[in-house]
Amino acid sequence: MSSHRAQSSGEASRQMRNLIIIGSGPAALTAAIYAGRAILAPLLISGKDLGGSMALTERVENYPGFPEGIGGFELAQLMRQQAERYGADVSMDEVVKIDLSARPFRVKTHGAEYQAEALIIATGRSPRALGIPGETEFAGRGVSSCATCDGYFYRDQKVVVIGGGDAAVKEAVFLTKFASTVHVVHRRDRLRAEKVVEEIAKSNEKIHFVWNSVVTEIIGDGGVSGVRLKDVKTDEESTLEAQGVFIFAGHEPNTELFQGQLELDKAGYIVTDERQMTSVEGVFAAGDVQEGVAWQIATAVGSGARAAMQAEEFIAELEGRAHPERDR
Ligand code: NAP
Repeated sequence: MSSHRAQSSGEASRQMRNLIIIGSGPAALTAAIYAGRAILAPLLISGKDLGGSMALTERVENYPGFPEGIGGFELAQLMRQQAERYGADVSMDEVVKIDLSARPFRVKTHGAEYQAEALIIATGRSPRALGIPGETEFAGRGVSSCATCDGYFYRDQKVVVIGGGDAAVKEAVFLTKFASTVHVVHRRDRLRAEKVVEEIAKSNEKIHFVWNSVVTEIIGDGGVSGVRLKDVKTDEESTLEAQGVFIFAGHEPNTELFQGQLELDKAGYIVTDERQMTSVEGVFAAGDVQEGVAWQIATAVGSGARAAMQAEEFIAELEGRAHPERDR
C-alpha cells in the first residue's frame, strides 16, 4: 500500500496515509519511531508544541538511561530526530476535525485533509483549571501552569503554588531558584507527591506549606498582587501576598475531538482493550490520554511502542500480508 497516495475528492484533495499519529509527547514520538522502523512512513501531527508536558519539564530524572537526568525539551528533540531518521513525517499542524465513522478515517487540520487506514491517538492531557475569579483574567500575567516557562519572571518575588501532587511540589522546588518565597497551598494536610520530592521540598527554607486551604480568588490590578485563602476546616479567610500564582491541580484529558466517536470513561479518558485498540477498530490510543495509566514518560514510551506494533499488525491484516510476529 502506498503511504502517501493523493486522493481526489469533490472539493479538496486528501492525502492518504497508512498511519497517522496525533500528539507529540513521548507516547506519540515513540509510536512514530516504531512505525517508521516498520516502514509505515507514519505522519505525526503534533499540534503547535512538540514534546507535550515532557518538553516543559526542566529536568527528567527518572527516565532510564540518563543517570544525571536530561532536560525534557532536549529529550523531546532527540525522540523527534530518531523518528524522522526512520522515515516519520512530523507536521506541526493541529487537528481540527476527525471522522471515525468509516475507514479510511478522515483527519482535517488547519492546513490539510488526510485519510488513514489506522490512527494512534496520543493527545495527552492538559492542566486543570480551578474556575476561580482572577484565574483567566491574569492568565499569562501572573497566573501560570508552567514553572519552567515562567519561573524566571519571578526573581526575588513571592509566588504561590496550588496543589499537592508531584507537579506542584517539584515545580515549587524549581521556583525557589528564582522566587524569594514559595507558598504551597494544598487543600489537605498531606501531599500526594513522591516521598523523595516531598523531603527535598520540606527541607528547602524558601518553601512554606499552607495546609487545609484553598485559593478562592486571585487578586491584583494589572498584575497579580496576592490570593485570597480559605481554611477548609475553620472557614477562616485570609490574604497572602504574591506576584505569581502557579496552578498544578491535576489534568483533564485532551479528548474533545473524539467525544461521541470513541468510548471514554467518566473522567473523559479513552477506553482501550489489551491491544490498546479503542472502541473503533483501527484506532489505537497511547500515553496519558488512555484510561488507567501511570502518567510517566517511561510508561508513555512503552504504550507508544505497543500501539505502533498493534497498528502495524492491523495494517498488515488489511493488506492480507503475513506479519512476522503473528506468523512466526
Ligand atoms: P495530581 O497527582 O492529580 O495532583 C493534583 C493536586 O492538585 C492534588 O494534590 C489535588 O489535591 C490538587 N487539586 C485537584 N483539584 C483541586 C482543586 N480544585 N483545588 C485545589 N487543589 C486541587 O496531578 P500532578 O501533580 O499533575 O501529577 C499527575 C501525575 O503525573 C501523577 O501520576 C504524578 O506522579 C505524575 N508526575 C510525575 C512527575 C515525576 O517527576 N515523577 C512529575 C509530575 C507529575 P488532592 O491531593 O487533595 O487530591
